[in-house]
Amino acid sequence: MFFDTHCHTYLSKQKSETEILEEIKEKWNFYIANIWVDLKISQHCIDIAQKYDFAYATIWIHPCDIWQYDDLDDTMIKLEDLAENKKVVAVWECGLDYYWIARNDNWEILEISQKELEAKKLIQKKWFIAQIELARKLNLPVIVHNREAWNDIIDILKEVNYTNFILHCYSENLEYANNLLSFAPNCKISFSGILTFNSAKSIQEAAKNIPLKNILIETDAPYLTPTPFRGQENYPYYVENVFNKLCDLRNESFDEIEKVVWENSLSIYGI
Ligand SMILES: [Zn+2]
Repeated sequence: MFFDTHCHTYLSKQKSETEILEEIKEKWNFYIANIWVDLKISQHCIDIAQKYDFAYATIWIHPCDIWQYDDLDDTMIKLEDLAENKKVVAVWECGLDYYWIARNDNWEILEISQKELEAKKLIQKKWFIAQIELARKLNLPVIVHNREAWNDIIDILKEVNYTNFILHCYSENLEYANNLLSFAPNCKISFSGILTFNSAKSIQEAAKNIPLKNILIETDAPYLTPTPFRGQENYPYYVENVFNKLCDLRNESFDEIEKVVWENSLSIYGI
């Protein structure tokens, strides 16, 4: 059994969401956690999870979307209400994103002053910490989104002492992973289709050497399509390609890796 621990079925352009979910239901034997990144669509995510046994939901506000909400406390209360549903398994995809920190609605990066940049970073940090505190209250893991902000993310996780988290779409090296594991020995590090790219040597080295008990797999579909489907849209069932690459890299047997990674997914999500 596989668990695609991070995908966005609602973002597919080539197939309808229903088509993808029905394909999973008919042909594939695995679970997905559908990641919803703002308050408006979190409810939709929960509805999908109610309809399909294999689907789970997460709630959260993406760091690129926090500017839409002016009241942090009020938003946290709304998220808490959504989290009452049993199929909500994590708080995702929160974190810091310095790459897209100043952009327009067409996702074009805007020039801003250093002062504005620092002010925006502070707001992102405030929302990140608020979401961690909500996760702590709800006893849920946090799924961390990072873009060009790893050091600040680690500093915040250490500062608030929260170790129940998943680093999704891991794109750092072994040294960084070891640093992280020394602080949070039970956190999960999730590998995406990037693991299958020839250029991803340092990520592969991390996947080969960290303890199996810390590993998850994901697609982040419809993005980050693994080899050999690069250039096409990504779907949750391509998680098997990420899994196969992981097996190539590691010394344990195929069965052992499948079993442990599956158990890791269930345990972090409390399923
Ligand atoms: Zn994602």
